[in-house]
Amino acid sequence: LESRFKDLEVQVPKKYPDVRFLNYKDRKRILITGGAGFVGSHLVDKLLLEGHEVIAVDNFFTGRKRNVEHWIGHHNFELINHDIVNPLFIEVDQIYHLASPASPPHYMFNPVKTIKTNTVGTINVLGLAKRVGARVLLASTSEVYGDPEVHPQTEAYWGHVNPIGPRACYDEAKRVAETLAFAYLQQEGVPVRISRIFNTYGPRMHINDGRVVSNFILQALQGQDITVYGNGAQTRSFQFVTDLVDGLVLLMNSNFSQPVNIGNPDEHTIDEFAQIIHGMVGGGSGVVHKAAVEDDPRRRKPDITRAREQLGWRPL
Ligand code: NAD
Ligand code: UDP
Ligand code: UDP
Repeated sequence: LESRFKDLEVQVPKKYPDVRFLNYKDRKRILITGGAGFVGSHLVDKLLLEGHEVIAVDNFFTGRKRNVEHWIGHHNFELINHDIVNPLFIEVDQIYHLASPASPPHYMFNPVKTIKTNTVGTINVLGLAKRVGARVLLASTSEVYGDPEVHPQTEAYWGHVNPIGPRACYDEAKRVAETLAFAYLQQEGVPVRISRIFNTYGPRMHINDGRVVSNFILQALQGQDITVYGNGAQTRSFQFVTDLVDGLVLLMNSNFSQPVNIGNPDEHTIDEFAQIIHGMVGGGSGVVHKAAVEDDPRRRKPDITRAREQLGWRPL
């Protein structure tokens, strides 16, 4: 793990890393909504390094300029402060649509805004794609499976979501976003790609992100108790962010319009994660159990057969 964090530092050095030369025919204009966020900024790096032109659109709700500051001023990069709930008129070839808060405390902060971002915002992105003939990749989520009754989760599973619970503003809005993508594909012929992203971690996660990996590392580093919600027997499967962005780019450039799980099937209980992080960081922290959170999925693990077969992708 340590060596992978180091690799990233080498790959993305200070100002203006060396980009590959692409001739006019192969170079694309690519829009990334949510491009200043955790995942979006790694995608910005990958696509710029490959020689493409990238336009990042972000309202900086959870994203930060700092995540892309090494590109600001580069002739292939543009950063636009814009809320995707409002229409956007630009000309591009491809759109990675990532704009949405992703961490439970962030998406629960303003549930109505979360719904608008993922529904109205997705309509705007699909309307833009329809007008300019662009291809759209939607960042959907394993949360469409809710608290799953099928394990591991295949893309054929329809999910088990409480439509009025605290997570619904995110889960149901992402489900509608998938429905919208499919409707624009079938009715308007917009080429869409749907990634169902599973839990992801890596550099540039916000220190106040509120998700389990950054919470546990921060607590351990500060010598505070590591807070496990509930009995800690719930499971998650975490992938490294560069595996995810490799998968997203493969999916975008494939011919496959059905949803595809992108995640690492290596499953652990949250108690095990607490022990692993405690063991790595050391220090005086203990592990304490707090009240369980409402509707917390009890287990989650992707079946990645489809990604392997359709994209030749698997986590490294
Ligand atoms: P993030 O919060 O770091 O990034 C989201 C970005 O979208 C931020 O930069 C934020 O400012 C921006 N944004 C939010 N609302 C917006 C709006 N209305 N208009 C414009 N920009 C807006 O989260 P992330 O982890 O990078 O997630 C990126 C995408 O991947 C999200 O769509 C998320 O649902 C999806 N996803 C992430 C994970 C994960 O584990 N990281 C898992 C499943 C799905
Ligand atoms: N839209 C946009 N940029 C564009 C084209 C459309 O933001 O370049 C928005 C537009 O404001 C509309 C939405 O996308 O609200 C859906 O567009 P569509 O053409 O499907 O619907 P219509 O405009 O006919 O309602
Ligand atoms: N969790 C925890 N302590 C924390 C943060 C999260 O025990 O400080 C648990 C949470 O209840 C869930 C799992 O860790 O069971 C993953 O939570 P996260 O918010 O990272 O992502 P989710 O997969 O729930 O969207």
